[in-house]
Amino acid sequence: MEGVEVEFERMEGFHKLKSLWKIEYRVTTLEPLLTQSATEEAKEIVDSILGKTIPKDLPDAVPLIFDGKAVVTGNAVKGVFRHLISSQLREAGIPICFQEVKHGPAVPEGLKQCPPDRPCFICTWFGTPSRQGALYFSMLKSIEPLEKVLASDPIPMIAIRDDYEAIDPRARAFLVLAPVREGVEFSGWIKGENLSSEIIGAIKEIQDMSWKGFVKFGGFKTRGLGSVKIEVVKIEKYCTVPFKLEKEYSKEELEKFLSECQKNIMSL
Ligand SMILES: [Zn+2]
Repeated sequence: MEGVEVEFERMEGFHKLKSLWKIEYRVTTLEPLLTQSATEEAKEIVDSILGKTIPKDLPDAVPLIFDGKAVVTGNAVKGVFRHLISSQLREAGIPICFQEVKHGPAVPEGLKQCPPDRPCFICTWFGTPSRQGALYFSMLKSIEPLEKVLASDPIPMIAIRDDYEAIDPRARAFLVLAPVREGVEFSGWIKGENLSSEIIGAIKEIQDMSWKGFVKFGGFKTRGLGSVKIEVVKIEKYCTVPFKLEKEYSKEELEKFLSECQKNIMSL
């Protein structure tokens, strides 16, 4: 952004690969979770697992399925992390650009998406439309197969379709949701190049927020679905010349490392 100097540890960039990181984490659902799957096939699979008579031919929304597991796409996870870290840093007074959203509110001049050569903190790590960031999010997969993770009872719901005016009776749709139940574990990882302690600290902040129920994945977030608890379980740091594991953090050492990093993001 024009004229604003941000004091953060600049990433080396892609021309120099200093370190490679793998952050493994677990996600546990605190509420039912729906990562809306679009395919009719997925609806049929879920319907046959449930084996219940529902007041519809098929449930309207079912989890995304991959390889027999319920999944959340890496892109969806990345979106949630980006949104939370951006809003938090803006609140802290750190200049973070706004992504242009179709039909969204107008973005004030000077806060528009960063030029690729001068990314803000968020664009550095999460990328811009023209330049990849330094973080890569894996798909989150349920540890257990789909038939073990579905809520046993589908949830009926009256939803307001936003393509009609709320007053129009056609706007109210009766939906049957077949979400993942509470207490289901997912695993995934975030990989990154040249990560700074600040971005690792920002991830720790998301973990802390999630423990209080403020991190939500998937659809129907305002209707009591989607809260998850995130727990980083292991961090591996690799050096690149030569390529080898430099450090592995787990248990108490991991906790200490994350807390140290967290101090850095808070002092940005
Ligand atoms: Zn930016």
